[in-house]
Amino acid sequence: MKLSKLFSQEKPTLSFEVFPPKTSDFFQSVEQAALEIASLSPDYMSVTYGAGGGRSRFTVDIAKEIERVGNTTALAHLTCVTSTKEDVREKLLELREAGIENILALRGDIPKEGDYPLRKDYRYACELIREIREFGDFCIGGACYPEGHTEAKSLEEDIANIGIKVEAGCEFLTTQMFFNNDILYDYIDKLHKKGIFVPVVAGIMPITNARQIYRSCELSGTVLPKRFIKIAERYGDNPAAMKQAGIAYATEQIIDLYANGVKNVHVYSMNKPDVARIIKNNLSEIIRG
Ligand code: FAD
Repeated sequence: MKLSKLFSQEKPTLSFEVFPPKTSDFFQSVEQAALEIASLSPDYMSVTYGAGGGRSRFTVDIAKEIERVGNTTALAHLTCVTSTKEDVREKLLELREAGIENILALRGDIPKEGDYPLRKDYRYACELIREIREFGDFCIGGACYPEGHTEAKSLEEDIANIGIKVEAGCEFLTTQMFFNNDILYDYIDKLHKKGIFVPVVAGIMPITNARQIYRSCELSGTVLPKRFIKIAERYGDNPAAMKQAGIAYATEQIIDLYANGVKNVHVYSMNKPDVARIIKNNLSEIIRG
């Protein structure tokens, strides 16, 4: 199913994310985790593509398994900053052949020197989005940043660039993780004031490892609220307690989002079926609509 159709329905949605293996040695374990998450009947599942500017051999294969074996709509991520036009065309043909209808079109992070060669074919996600639209037949999403993208001079400038992405053919936006819902509500108001009305899917990260999160929030410019820092300080050294607290925090965030009319929530479940299962169970009556 095209996600644009799903988002046009009244019902709240809940989706989960997995990341593909780097090498074929780990394919089976990722496949198993993805299918376990699919068995929870999420509205769709997304599969990331590379990281730190890198590419990925297995995104399409995992997305295909989710669709065919897991019987769940897949959203395949695709980055462009280290790809040539031919690479992208090949990937689009592969996705079409696999029956994948939804792509999250991204620029990708600029790789650290020496990691991957930076190509000159694409500078911004909007260029990839335009090309996918011309290729045809895909529902296209893009990324957005309620606290502003780290490279943007201001949130206003970043939102203007989101407008360019939407004009290029981006039909929905998925947010970077955030831990204070008020930041998202303000952001959505700002998008509306600029005439951007595509569905915004709230990206929620259940924190199960406190140390990792300090580093990734620092890199992405995500603010950790005091309430969250207190939890991480108190339970950070106790993995089981941190997991329980992280899932409870994420659940509370999601309930507040739905209650405030944010209808679509995407959980960064990081190949962890147990985390996805607890969150889904915590929301069982709420997502019934
Ligand atoms: P862009 O939209 O191109 O924006 C990048 C910067 O350029 C911003 O500062 C923006 O303001 C500016 N900009 C955009 N358009 C223009 C323009 N026309 N003119 C001037 N400036 C412009 N990375 C991966 O490697 N793999 C993944 O699977 C992945 N999934 C992600 C999923 C989500 C939901 C999010 C939020 C991020 C994801 N990322 C992923 C990370 C993403 O690749 C990085 O955040 C990257 O730095 C920016 O990608 P983008 O598509 O938002 O870029």
